Amino acid sequence: MMQDFLNKIKTQLLEDKIRLERDLTDLGKKDTKIPGHFDVQYPESGGSSDDDNAMEVSEYADGLSIGSKLEAELRDTVKALAAIEKGTYGVCKYCGKEIDIKRLEARPTSSACIACKKTLTQEM
Ligand SMILES: [Zn+2]
Repeated sequence: MMQDFLNKIKTQLLEDKIRLERDLTDLGKKDTKIPGHFDVQYPESGGSSDDDNAMEVSEYADGLSIGSKLEAELRDTVKALAAIEKGTYGVCKYCGKEIDIKRLEARPTSSACIACKKTLTQEM
């Protein structure tokens, strides 16, 4: 793996990490007990009619689903950064082969090569 490429990916991952953490902080409060977990705040519109409550519930549900997606992305980003530090970045976790650079450029958090990903998707 080329050092220039790794540096580029690392910069991108660090930017992603900051962005994801900021988005999660907007969405909720950082959980002090579970690292990397954010508590989505229950929205309070101030109203107490059925409509207000229904809106709060759906807003909260949206927040939860966005939150868990962002958390998963953040986890993958942190994992990829750790792999760069360890020198294991860009290696497929299933077959141990190097992942195509184009694939990593498109999705820096990839941890499986295209062939293994295909096999997995077909099995599901
Ligand atoms: Zn593979």
